Formats: sequence, C-alpha cells, structure tokens
Amino acid sequence: MGAAMSPGFALAHSFWLARHNFRRLHGAALADYQDRRAQSIVGFARRHSPFYAALYGAEPATRWRTLPTIDKAVMMANLSTLNTRQVKLETALETALAAESSRDFRSRVGDLTVGLSSGTSGHRGLFLIDEQEQARWAGTVVARVAPRIRRHGVRITLFSMSGSNLYQRLQRGWLSFQHFNLATPIDEAVTRLNSHPPDLLAGPPSYLHALSERQLAGELRIRPERLISVAEVLEPQIETQLRERFACAVHQIYQCTEGLIGVSCKNGRLHLQEDLVVVQTESVEATAESQRVTPIITDLWRQVQPIIRYRLNDILALCPAEACSCGSGFRTIERIEGRLDDVCRFAASDGSLLSVFPATIRRMVLLASGAVRDYEVIQERDSQLRVRLALASGAELNTVATLVRKAIEAGLREQGIADADLVIEAGEPQRFTTKKLRRVRRLPAEETI
Ligand SMILES: [Zn+2]
Repeated sequence: MGAAMSPGFALAHSFWLARHNFRRLHGAALADYQDRRAQSIVGFARRHSPFYAALYGAEPATRWRTLPTIDKAVMMANLSTLNTRQVKLETALETALAAESSRDFRSRVGDLTVGLSSGTSGHRGLFLIDEQEQARWAGTVVARVAPRIRRHGVRITLFSMSGSNLYQRLQRGWLSFQHFNLATPIDEAVTRLNSHPPDLLAGPPSYLHALSERQLAGELRIRPERLISVAEVLEPQIETQLRERFACAVHQIYQCTEGLIGVSCKNGRLHLQEDLVVVQTESVEATAESQRVTPIITDLWRQVQPIIRYRLNDILALCPAEACSCGSGFRTIERIEGRLDDVCRFAASDGSLLSVFPATIRRMVLLASGAVRDYEVIQERDSQLRVRLALASGAELNTVATLVRKAIEAGLREQGIADADLVIEAGEPQRFTTKKLRRVRRLPAEETI
C-alpha cells in the first residue's frame, strides 16, 4: 500500500479490482482480505497521524476490530492531526468555503481536493483526498454502477450538492462524467440533458423527481438505462414514479463523506461495499421482522484522511444473511431508515419514553391518503409532531388532514403510545437547494421552542 500510482492507472486498476472482488470475495476469503487491509491501514494511520497514534497507544493492529471508535464531532475537532498530510483544519475549511461561495468549486490544498458534506450548518463534514484516491473512487463506482461498457462508452450525469473537482475532472476515454450542482435551475438541466442524454442519471431523489415531472410533460426526452438515487432516503412511492416515468430501473448509491458504503447490484439489491469498507454494527432495535443497526465503518483504502472505527449517524435495516443471485457475497441493506438524530420520542402510557423511527412515521403518512403529493414531519419536542402536507390538486385539506391524523394516531397506538400532540397544516417540505431533504426531522434541543 502507498505505492504511487498514476491516476489513470489507479482508475483502471480499481475498476478491474472492483469487478473481480465483487464476485470472488466470499466468506473466509473476504474476512481475510478485510483483516489484512485493516491492519495495514491502522499501521499507516499510526505512523502518519499523530491523532491515531495517541488514540491507539500500544494496542496491536491485530485487534483493530475493538479499537476506540470516533465520530464526526471527534473527527472535525481533531482534523489537523488526524489527516496524514499535516493540513490544518482552518486552511481546508477556508479553501472549501471560498470555493463554494464563488461557485467555482475547484478547492485544492496542494495536490489534495477538499470537499464539504451537505449536512446542516455546524454538522458539516470535511474530506481531503488525493488524486489517486479520487481515481480509485471513480473506477470503483463506475465498475459497480455501469450496466455494461458499450462501444461509445458510458455517459454519466450526476446532480449533487458538492461540486468539487472530484467530479469535474472525470472525462476521459470511454468515460464521460458530467456534473451539475443542485442549484442548477430545472429548465437549464432539462436543456442540457436533452442535448447530452446520459446512460446513467444520478442525483438525490427529490431532484430526480422534479426532472421526472418534466419527462412526464414531454419537455425532457431522455432514455437512461438506469437512474441512481444518492444522498437522500429513496422512498418507495418516489421510486415507483421514477421507474414509471423514465421506464428504467432505479438503483441506489449509499455514500457519505466518510466513504462509499452501498451500491445496488443488477438485481437492485443494495450491497455493502465490503472490499472498500468494513461495516461493523451496533444494534438499535432488533425485532422478529428486522434488525435496525447503526454502522461503525473502517475504510480499507483511504490514507490521506484515514476513517477507522467511525460511527455513522445513520440507521440501517440489514437483510438476513442470504446469497444474492447476482453472485456477490457482500451483505445487503434492506432499507436506509434515516438518521439517528431524527428518531422521534413519545411518552408511552406507562410514562417511559419510546423511540419511533423516521421510516415508521413516513409509512404512516404515506399509507393515509393518496392525495398527499409531498410532506414533511417535524418533531419539535417529545410526544409532538408537526405535519406539513402538500396536496394533489383538487384535494381538500380538512379531509386529508383527518385521514393523516387517524393514521398517525393508530400507528402510534400500535407502538403503545396513547397520547401525542399532532399539528397538521398545509405546506411544502424544505427543498433541496440548501439542504438534503429529510421528510422526518427531529429538531435539536437548542432549536426546540
Ligand atoms: Zn446482488
């Protein structure tokens, strides 16, 4: 590890490796592979990162599975000593913010690309990667999402929040990668997509949905082979609409600042990328039907900013272990439930405080009435919900609100919650231009009324 590779070679190598590993690494061979890579990355971090050296002390790398965990707050507070290139947090942050406000997006410190994640202000993550890591990421993603390599190559268009040069530079040979920022007006996006129709169209489901309205109206006329949902939870009703309107499969990439964690296979199942990251789990809730976990990830490749035993803020429902017919032995995610911060709390009849998951609340609202075109649910304090409904044309608020109220009350009663303060009003959810769309949100304590 660590041998310098040209970005072109790294791209080709990671492409080949990604296809090979996906089918070949099963069971004990996968565990060995992860073990070898993890020990190597822990050793590297200890030698080059003062933060990790101090955190791990004399603990041997063979015990990497039980090393102390970190999270976003710890990473950001220690970024200057955590990265292995001696980049100061202030320098990286200044560069990234300047690039973002100028909409130039070419943020670099030396040979490193600096990116900012799209979290709420104060909770934004920062990442530093070099050219080789960037090429490796691209080769892997393309290998795992591209249906097949055609003679004319693969044309990919991505709409995303971060517009760093991570994406802009990837236009070479058989790979044409166009990137647009989410601030791109829909009219302009439609024109550009019509003149350069992509084979793969990727973006947050809320933006893809806005494009699908134009496709339905006949203004957008593209025939992608596949849509790829990124950055936001893909809800079943949105997935169905996208699939019907574009007449193609809708797959997912589950990726965050900290790594590429899940990619859909050809069968549409979201596989953990177990040759890139080790996903250890902590149980949040286990029932007979499903197991909800929060992941602790270890990136097996990144050296500039090593991500080791890093606790994510997400809740996942994992599928029971069983082989997928695509041939990969990598585990699969049944659902991305939402963020741990957005788990809502209600007082139960016996006075104890119960957790209700964002996905459960989403289902209550969606099943209530077909007239809900869009919605948003905010918990401002325990045992309360504010529900904003955007209705299909012709629907009447009072009627729909009554149905939604009944559905939520019945859903909560099933969980042992008899009493909740529900406010139901008309309104549009917060849109995608400034933040990720989260349809169920719990406000942090300082924002509570
Ligand atoms: Zn599969």
